[in-house]
Amino acid sequence: MAAKTPFESFKINLENDTSPKREDSLGTIKAYSGKISKLAEDFKADKKLKWYDRKFEQASQCLLTQVVNRILSIRDSALIIHGPVGCAQASYGYREFYRNLPPQLQRPDFELHILSSNLTEQDIVFGGERKLRLAIESCVERYNPKSIVIATSCASGIMGDDIEGITDSIQPSIEARIVPIHCEGFRSEISQSAFDASAHAIVKYLVREPKKKQPDLVNIIAPFSVTWADRVELTRLFNKVGLRPRFIPDFATTGELAEISEAAVTAPTCASYGFYLQNALYEKYGVPYFREPAPLGIEYSEMWFRSIAKYTGREKEIEALIEEEKAFVLPKLEEFKKRFKGKESSIFVAAGQARAIFIPKFAAELGMNVAAVNTLELDPFVVDELQKVYEKVGDDFEVHVSDVQPFEQSHLMNKLKPDLYTGCPFMGLYKREGSHVRNHSFRSDFSVQSNQFAFRGLLNYAYIIQRALNNPSLNRTLHDRRPSPYKKWWYEQENIMAYAANDE
Ligand code: SF4
Repeated sequence: MAAKTPFESFKINLENDTSPKREDSLGTIKAYSGKISKLAEDFKADKKLKWYDRKFEQASQCLLTQVVNRILSIRDSALIIHGPVGCAQASYGYREFYRNLPPQLQRPDFELHILSSNLTEQDIVFGGERKLRLAIESCVERYNPKSIVIATSCASGIMGDDIEGITDSIQPSIEARIVPIHCEGFRSEISQSAFDASAHAIVKYLVREPKKKQPDLVNIIAPFSVTWADRVELTRLFNKVGLRPRFIPDFATTGELAEISEAAVTAPTCASYGFYLQNALYEKYGVPYFREPAPLGIEYSEMWFRSIAKYTGREKEIEALIEEEKAFVLPKLEEFKKRFKGKESSIFVAAGQARAIFIPKFAAELGMNVAAVNTLELDPFVVDELQKVYEKVGDDFEVHVSDVQPFEQSHLMNKLKPDLYTGCPFMGLYKREGSHVRNHSFRSDFSVQSNQFAFRGLLNYAYIIQRALNNPSLNRTLHDRRPSPYKKWWYEQENIMAYAANDE
């Protein structure tokens, strides 16, 4: 029997206030640079990934913001950011993100309710309890929400506010469910630990015991990179086979989240965002899950839908759906392949881990060489997947792990000079000599091309790659006319991770 991955083997303890951090639970790392062949060889020998610390970091991500961007879309909920008002500033931007979604594309009515407990220097000395109680009171008075999410900050963590003590004492006197999430910015160097903290709190405080099973309900993990157009397309496909998708936590109501324990299965779209939620729902309520990759491209989408068929008894309908979709997509894909033929080009892929596995394979299918793969963080189980990519595409590509360090990416790009860079919008901006395209949209993008999931999403991927390769002039002009943000000295350094060290 195959050895269990850290995903499967660690147990979730919902008695705890929050989840463990990823450095400990999965052995995730945030810094690496080297060829895929070397990474795979070292991992085989050491059975773990080596931890590197950066002595200098250009930027990093805060756990609080990783929580807020999804949680605040719970429709009848209110969010309290328990910290100085500055910690809440990023949350207001999301109102703009979500407001752009057209209601005619099934966008539910929503009003985002966000409060800051506004901790000050004085509160840091005397504690934030009074302000937190006041914020909860104001929330109930102003919005009468069905749930109140409390997102902690560095400040509340440093002074050690007893969040659970406070919320336990208030809960019996109000109807709204209080959901404290521990996302202090300093808690983990892997900001994706915040995904686990919010999943822990959702299952612990919001999800209730199942009253009955709902065999046609499918939970779908929906991080920020699952766009509205992805949601519309997946909903279309699910409806065709008589299933109801429930995107989590994306615009669900408190009541809808409470009943995800009754679903037939929890389907992944991003293991990084969803594995903890899948495990917790399974351990606490027996909701099955599967780990196949995100429904990106034909092969992965087939696997994904067939797994859903297994848990929902829709085998016949889903086989028919797969045939129908392939009949639509395959001839068009062949047309794309012809257009790419004979064009020698290379690609640098900067993406979340699910796309970092899928895009290089797809690019190679289109005839491109894979120059590098960059991810924000690297989980040990992904090394095997990257090695499979290596075996399939044949290029010994660079692997770069950098939680938002554009100066390192810029150095690597300068060395490799790929024709196309495809990047996650969160991964930083810098000058590129070749063309570039974002590999997924922000959550609120509802344009047709922002659907990249399932069978037809592949055509959109091919389209945006083709368009970017054909139109490099804007990037070239910017590259030629704008000064470099980094000194020549930086590009002369041998190692792009000159500021990183392993002190073991
Ligand atoms: S929680 Fe900490 S890292 Fe995050 S915004 Fe507040 S102070 Fe900054």
